[in-house]
Amino acid sequence: MNFNKVLDNVSIYEAGKPIELVVREYGINPKDIIKLASNENPYGTSPKVTKKIQEIAGNMFVYPDDSMYELKDALSNKFEVKPSNVIVGSGSDQILEFCVHAKCDKDSKVLMSKTTFAMYEIYAKQTGSSVIKTVDDEHNLEQFSAMYKEHGADIIFLCLPNNPLGECLDKDDVYTFLETIDKDTLVVVDGAYQEYASFKDEKKRINPKDLINTFPNCIYLGTFSKAYALGGMRVGYGIAQEDIIKTLYKLRAPFNITTLTLAAAIEALKDEEFVDKCIALNFEEMNRYEEYAEQKGFDYIDSYTNFITLKFGDLFSSKEVAQNLLELGVIVRDLTGYGVNAIRITIGSKEQNTKVFEILDEVLEKLK
Ligand SMILES: *Cc1c(COP(=O)(O)O)cnc(C)c1O
Repeated sequence: MNFNKVLDNVSIYEAGKPIELVVREYGINPKDIIKLASNENPYGTSPKVTKKIQEIAGNMFVYPDDSMYELKDALSNKFEVKPSNVIVGSGSDQILEFCVHAKCDKDSKVLMSKTTFAMYEIYAKQTGSSVIKTVDDEHNLEQFSAMYKEHGADIIFLCLPNNPLGECLDKDDVYTFLETIDKDTLVVVDGAYQEYASFKDEKKRINPKDLINTFPNCIYLGTFSKAYALGGMRVGYGIAQEDIIKTLYKLRAPFNITTLTLAAAIEALKDEEFVDKCIALNFEEMNRYEEYAEQKGFDYIDSYTNFITLKFGDLFSSKEVAQNLLELGVIVRDLTGYGVNAIRITIGSKEQNTKVFEILDEVLEKLK
């Protein structure tokens, strides 16, 4: 069958492997599997959120509140913007999709860092747009500027901090860069890990309200999937000036957020204490990975997220390390597909990490 030709260039996103697959393929007991491949919060969902979900579970025969009044109200209070500056998506992924489809067609150009969130390129290519990438793996604003001067761009993606590498630009440098960008270029600031970055270093903090007031061509994206521990609920948000939000609404299907999801997100915003606790634990545990890497003599990228990227140089093949870990029940993300000889490991709980170090010792000994 013939399909839309632009799809010939589109690859299918490969998500982190689910626990069920490792159970099936390697016969490992599900309780012995450690899944650290999708940057989920290892401390589980806040008990208050779980309780709320259980309370309303019997009430699913009616459609959700499609105005999302309560969640938009809570988000607009949190960020001190108007509800009309907010759009909610089925994950912030859906808002990335809206942004690209709102702005791009086959003549458009989309600028991004070489090694960044895979969906930026996939959405761009769905519209037939050309993708332009900087040369360095990590975000390099000089290269962004040079590429922008040379090619222009309809959309620029900045992932702050960046997945899958973990680095984060300083807010002041980002602002200096944004001053040079044309008003008709949409800049997507993906803040999926901003809660972590701003905890670790105040210089990384992007304030969505200040961002969109200073640069009306920017949209800030946040998600409940990482620090808020609601990956299974699929909910994220965008904050931008009204003209952008109104346009994105044209692409939204009705009832894109379920009743359970709305309630969970509203409840999660009330329990910031839980989120703060998880973030503090994350960086305590991240120290152990840094020490481990130093002890073994391999590089890592200073991370502002809930994962760490370990680079193996010419010591090991990341693909082999990841495969061997998988066979022993530890799921991590191999970055060979991104052209980097490294693995990305989500920072787990204390017990999980202790086990990871033991199993990694075993694997590295075997591959030596
Ligand atoms: C996880 C992630 C998202 C969005 O996740 P959703 O679950 O769709 O909200 C967006 N950008 C980056 C960089 C991410 O890592």
